[in-house]
Amino acid sequence: MLIIDCEKCTACGVCETSCAFGAISVPEDCAVVNESCTLCGACVDNCPEGALHIHTIDKHPQTDISDYSGIMVFAEYRHGKIAPVSYELLGIGRKLADKRCVQLIVILPGGKVTEYTDSLIAAGADTVLLAEHPFLEQFREDVYANILETVIRQYKPEVVLAGATAIGRSVIPYVATAVDAGLTADCTRLEIREEDGTLLQTRPAFGGNIMATIECPQTRPQMATVRPNVMAPAQPDPSRSGEVVHLPLTEELLQSQVEVVETVSSADDQVNIQEAEILVAGGRGLESAKGFTLLRELAVELGGSVAASRAAVDSGWIPYAHQVGQTGKTVSPKLYIACGISGAVQHAVGMQSAEIVVAINRDKNAPVFDIATYGVVGDLFEVIPELIKRLQEVKN
Ligand code: FAD
Repeated sequence: MLIIDCEKCTACGVCETSCAFGAISVPEDCAVVNESCTLCGACVDNCPEGALHIHTIDKHPQTDISDYSGIMVFAEYRHGKIAPVSYELLGIGRKLADKRCVQLIVILPGGKVTEYTDSLIAAGADTVLLAEHPFLEQFREDVYANILETVIRQYKPEVVLAGATAIGRSVIPYVATAVDAGLTADCTRLEIREEDGTLLQTRPAFGGNIMATIECPQTRPQMATVRPNVMAPAQPDPSRSGEVVHLPLTEELLQSQVEVVETVSSADDQVNIQEAEILVAGGRGLESAKGFTLLRELAVELGGSVAASRAAVDSGWIPYAHQVGQTGKTVSPKLYIACGISGAVQHAVGMQSAEIVVAINRDKNAPVFDIATYGVVGDLFEVIPELIKRLQEVKN
């Protein structure tokens, strides 16, 4: 809780202006805190009199962080292949491990996964832990979490990385709670402090308006989920060698409260804008679901897929699986054509690593032009049909 020392407080009001949550005010001669306080510490840092401090109750015994060493990656196996984000995690995991001169360990649960060992080692792993069992062919949150928890307790890695995918997002918080570790979700950048192994976990905060770098200095492992398509996978090196360990899987470990009755893939699951090389994205400027028919025509001509801003998704013009941005998907195509999209920061974080961005917008001051490689100032309902016509002419 936030403690205010009224003896020291001079009612200067600095705490009030430094609080982003409106949680502190100075009605008279001493500051007062309300229930909106998130214990972020901004007021404590800014108070010139040292009148504020945060009192924490240590619920957990102190972790001896020197017991922990190595970087661990949770690799995802889905529909008969390893999820691309797993190789991206190995790319960043390798860099972190080299900086700390420690092992890069990858844990891969699944039904029949031995055949992927070589590709994981080529991608940077020193040790591959295989949790292979027919029961693991289907994802069950509780079983995957039990396996990860057991492995973390045994191997004591200083860092655990997972993809910010549907699977990673559901299983990793479960594990972090079980091992009393800090967890930073949806990281877009990771670095490690060589001297003490502190993981610097950067992610968008306050609705994407700032990038926050988060540290978990007192507990281990330091756990982070990373958005797909943000980190580059390492170049595979088939000459690398590594250790392979088949984990013993006891019956107890495979106990589940979940019964998988049937697996049905929805039409949305077929949409994978994260793997498309060309994306034609539409926003509120499309005005209706019909606007996306025009966009689809352009996508067909270019051999690409259709993406969207949240405004278009929230309007019900296109399903959520197409949404790009902070609360949607992160994409990095070769070409991204943003049509009738203003370029809000929450959208930009999802597409700014595209190689070429073309923006079509009738407002020449739209922020999207700041991130665009090429900009077309004009009405999309005139520009897109003209573009389609030209593409057809070139083809014929
Ligand atoms: P607008 O901002 O309304 O822009 C429409 C643009 O179309 C304007 O620039 C206009 O000039 C142009 N236009 C209109 N008509 C035409 C025409 N005929 N021809 C050419 N141009 C035209 N947004 C996302 O996209 N993805 C996210 O994941 C996401 N997550 C969010 C998370 C949080 C916590 C919050 C607070 C917001 C999030 N948003 C997200 C919303 C974001 O802030 C913007 O509101 C949203 O991106 C705006 O979508 P837009 O660009 O389509 O619409």
